[in-house]
Amino acid sequence: MNAANNVVELPSLEEIEQMDKQQQNALESLEISITTITDNDDNDEKTSYVKCQRCGRRIAMFRKSPRSYSVSKRITVLEKQIKQDEIKNSHYHNNNSDYNYIMESKQELADLLKEEDKNDLVTRLPLFSSRMTGYKWICSKCWDKSYRSLHHHQTN
Ligand SMILES: [Zn+2]
Repeated sequence: MNAANNVVELPSLEEIEQMDKQQQNALESLEISITTITDNDDNDEKTSYVKCQRCGRRIAMFRKSPRSYSVSKRITVLEKQIKQDEIKNSHYHNNNSDYNYIMESKQELADLLKEEDKNDLVTRLPLFSSRMTGYKWICSKCWDKSYRSLHHHQTN
């Protein structure tokens, strides 16, 4: 292995879990507002803004990105399957194992959609979050400021 000063100390599982939790909490407390800009054509543009959790500046969020092919395919399959199973179930009064199967599919679909919502929000955020920011979601200006103070505190 390399010299000791090249060794990066990896966080423990509990630390990672803790980080995830803090980041998730900060994510849930984000303040998002939607502004409708009325212009001359018929389709009014909607822009979402999110507040920096440090300076409070409102920043326009990125546009929604399309779902990945594999995820959207799985969602379609699940939705179709649930519908068919439910119809089948109500027609033939099937047993409990079929019912459990439907519930499992529904649970998987709900989890997928929830995960997608979270991913969608994160990819649309014009903000950054890390241990350096105390897991708060902050704008690029605030990010630069904390980065500079973190790395140049000896020379300043
Ligand atoms: Zn800021």
